[in-house]
This record gives sequence, C-alpha cells and structure tokens, in this order.
Amino acid sequence: MKTYGGACQCGAVAYRVSGEALTLFACHCTDCQRQSASAFGMALWLRGVELTLLRGSLASWTRDLPSGGQMACRFCPVCGSRLFHQVVGSEILSIKPGSLDDSTGLQPVGHIWTDSAQPWLRPALQGLCYPGNPDGFGELMEAWHHEDRR
Ligand SMILES: [Zn+2]
Ligand SMILES: [Zn+2]
Repeated sequence: MKTYGGACQCGAVAYRVSGEALTLFACHCTDCQRQSASAFGMALWLRGVELTLLRGSLASWTRDLPSGGQMACRFCPVCGSRLFHQVVGSEILSIKPGSLDDSTGLQPVGHIWTDSAQPWLRPALQGLCYPGNPDGFGELMEAWHHEDRR
C-alpha cells in the first residue's frame, strides 16, 4: 500500500489516495491525445483504493468504451483538470499521474497504442510497446512489479 497526494491545476480539488500500485503506462491513442490536449495520456493504476478528497468536489463524465463498458472520468469542476478514470464496476482506479504532488519517478513501464503515437516521439518509446490495446495488462503489471519501486 502506498499513499499519494495530488491536486488539480487550480487547487480547488486536492486528494489523497492509498492503494496497491499495479502499473504505470502511457497511452498514445487519439482519445488520450484529445483528453489530455497533448501528445499522450498516462495512467497509474491502483487497486484496493481509499480515496479522500481533502478539498473540493469532483465532477464526472461517463463515456462509452469500444469494449461495451463505460468509463467514469472525474475532474475538477473549476479548472477541468482530469484526475481519475475508472471503468464502471472495476476495482481499479486510474490516476492521471501528472496531478500528483510528487511526480518524480513517473517513468512508464510501457506504451500502448504506439501506432498513433506522435511520430517525433516514437524513437524515444522504451519498455513494453503495443501497437494498439494490449490483449491484457498482465505484462505491464509484471514489469511494474519487477522494477524497484520506492
Ligand atoms: Zn481545479
Ligand atoms: Zn488512450
């Protein structure tokens, strides 16, 4: 179990979350590019989560997934910073790790949807790489588990 603190860009929302970190990866799909309004999205997955809002409240938007499920997307209602993603019914919480107070050591163990990665970025992608969605996330979790985590 590890505890993380984080906040949105404007500071209206601050959170503390504890749980078992499962993996950290970057997603280069066009949805993540649009969501982040940047080149890629990152996801830090936690299981057995206890989430405490230290300040503010979260707004939520739910999107349909190609797999048929739904994903709840939670964000600051003031500045719009996306903070958490969670597939409805899943026990795994995905944190947008750029929101962490301490974002050092946020090296992803892999990259998914590399086929749509920005061309300038492709030569720099290290670790496990998948052209699209991986069949499962076992390898990405194993790689995270085997690296030395503080
Ligand atoms: Zn905010
Ligand atoms: Zn994505």
